[in-house]
Amino acid sequence: MPETKNLIEIKHISKKFGDLTVLKDISLKVKEKEVVVIIGPSGSGKSTLLRCINGLETPTSGAIFFDGLEVNGEKNINYVRTEVGMVFQRFNLFPHMTVLQNLMLAPMKVRKISSDEAKERGMLLLKKVGLADKADYKPAQLSGGQQQRVAIARALAMKPKALLFDEPTSALDPEMVHEVLDVMKEVAEEGMTMVVVTHEMGFAREVGSRVVFIDQGVTVEEGTPEDVFNHTKEDRTKEFLSQVL
Ligand code: ADP
Ligand code: MG
Repeated sequence: MPETKNLIEIKHISKKFGDLTVLKDISLKVKEKEVVVIIGPSGSGKSTLLRCINGLETPTSGAIFFDGLEVNGEKNINYVRTEVGMVFQRFNLFPHMTVLQNLMLAPMKVRKISSDEAKERGMLLLKKVGLADKADYKPAQLSGGQQQRVAIARALAMKPKALLFDEPTSALDPEMVHEVLDVMKEVAEEGMTMVVVTHEMGFAREVGSRVVFIDQGVTVEEGTPEDVFNHTKEDRTKEFLSQVL
């Protein structure tokens, strides 16, 4: 079997905001096509960790490599921003643009593809997430679940090497959660490298290649979903799981 490379490599990073240490000596490797699910209590540093990966925050110490290149401050930042898509809890679509225009903008501006190609790619992706009939709608005319599916399609339109998800279903009404998780599952099955922060333990179990439990800025436990959910080692993990399962 050919060796799979580490697309993301986090080496001993710490992150401080003033006196507050939010991440403490975190290391994590994500291979191509892996889906790493990060779980942990609110305030434990999950968003900060994701934001460090795509350069929205800079670690106080340690190093992050993406595709073999170090991401640090301005260094390689454009490459990372182009190759790593991010889907947030709030949908962040451009409100004044149509759904299709939302999908066309970055590929035309950053990847320099033509408007015809961007339109074709955009429509294919809208079909994929089941929203081709909403191409000319404005985001506000869509439900939260539909907006989040558009956000995923928009991230995919850049043909990124990896996608980061920060609690993509936390702001949704319960009945819309599954439609977004289904799209994420499909994207994972097509081989996208993903890092997903979520409280959806069913998704973690079913789709995750690995699960990482973070508490107070520290990696407490890490393993396959089977390891972490069925053979939990650490008391802190057990306690957290008893609250969310
Ligand atoms: P999580 O996503 O796990 O809920 P976060 O990464 O958002 O956790 O936050 C971890 C801690 O860092 C929290 O105490 C939060 O208040 C703090 N924090 C996050 N961003 C900043 C910032 N820009 N400035 C100061 N403190 C921050
Ligand atoms: Mg968060």
